[in-house]
Amino acid sequence: MSAAAARAMARADELAGCTERPGEITRRYGTPALIAARDLLEAWMLEAGMRTRVDRAGNLIGTLGAGDRPGILIGSHFDTVVDAGRYDGTLGILLGIGCGEELAGAEPAHDLTVAAFCDEEGARFPTDYFGSRAFLGRPLPDVAMTDAEGATLASGIELAGNGAAEPGSGLPANAVAYLEAHIEQGPVLEAAGHPLGIVTSITGGAKLMVALRGTAGHAGTVPMGLRRDAFSAAAEIALAAEALARDDGEAVATVGQVAVSPGAANVIPGRAAISIDLRHQDDNRRAGLLARVRQMIAEVADRRGVDAAVEVIHDERSVRCDPALGERMRAAARAIGLDPPSLPSGAGHDAVILSDHVPVAMLFVRCAGGISHNPAESVTTADVAAALAVLTAVVGGE
Ligand SMILES: [Zn+2]
Repeated sequence: MSAAAARAMARADELAGCTERPGEITRRYGTPALIAARDLLEAWMLEAGMRTRVDRAGNLIGTLGAGDRPGILIGSHFDTVVDAGRYDGTLGILLGIGCGEELAGAEPAHDLTVAAFCDEEGARFPTDYFGSRAFLGRPLPDVAMTDAEGATLASGIELAGNGAAEPGSGLPANAVAYLEAHIEQGPVLEAAGHPLGIVTSITGGAKLMVALRGTAGHAGTVPMGLRRDAFSAAAEIALAAEALARDDGEAVATVGQVAVSPGAANVIPGRAAISIDLRHQDDNRRAGLLARVRQMIAEVADRRGVDAAVEVIHDERSVRCDPALGERMRAAARAIGLDPPSLPSGAGHDAVILSDHVPVAMLFVRCAGGISHNPAESVTTADVAAALAVLTAVVGGE
């Protein structure tokens, strides 16, 4: 298993060379770098004895087995954010391929399908799980949408997709489970000294854009009592959202985007816009928090005499991972001397989309410092070997 893990690590290094920009790892949808990475993955799938195909969006699917046994899918994504690390997404695919290699020549209890999704991060086009949605045969998003340079999604699909592919869902008819192994992207496992964790649920989240409109004016001549300062209102809203999440105890709230206009040191801001990202494992409590945040925004705006327009960009429910699958992974981990803790995933994953169609489970792999979406992403070969052993046991066993 450690030889296979070392191979997965070397492959992650090789995939890191598939990048739009030398010196960093940037591999967004519909770029030659994405296709170069897919070509490598396909070559390794073929070496592992898998049948491969590319679907109309550009997902790569490798299959092992004749379809006469229950099927397990192992998947993740091979696109990246800008200036990414080398394990987010790719590790899950490499573990799936490693699993196929480990089971070659054996009589596993399950057929194996490895699904390599072409766009999860949405780093180039404003897409939302485009790869896994397309894999399931869902309608394509608006192909006229453009990236920052004005290129259309249609042009990306033309480059990355397989125009000759059959439409429809790529989910095998015999599929009984979807497993996704992913770096934790948080510090919990490292702090507790565990190589692996079993994910209980994928936390739902809402994203709001709040646009505030006051009155721009001279910073020296308008008295404080007569101001309608849009940025001061935005700042108060940001701190109040933070306080509401803290009061809940389990929610998280983040203001990550701020725009102020006109943006001069001697002008009272007439306009401000902020994003608010709200997450909570419990859908009811998240809905309650969202309502409290909206009410708070209205109160702050009213008191400060500014107009507030709130747009809810998305509001995704939490997804519960399948407890029975989680227990199978836990039993496999115990068999190699581990006792993986259960933990929620604060980040979204392709498993969210697959969960509408098939029971899903996720295995987290400890990552150094909890760092992700960053070139400093790091995992150990020993932890990768443990994850591979768990996945192989689940696919191979009854
Ligand atoms: Zn990811």
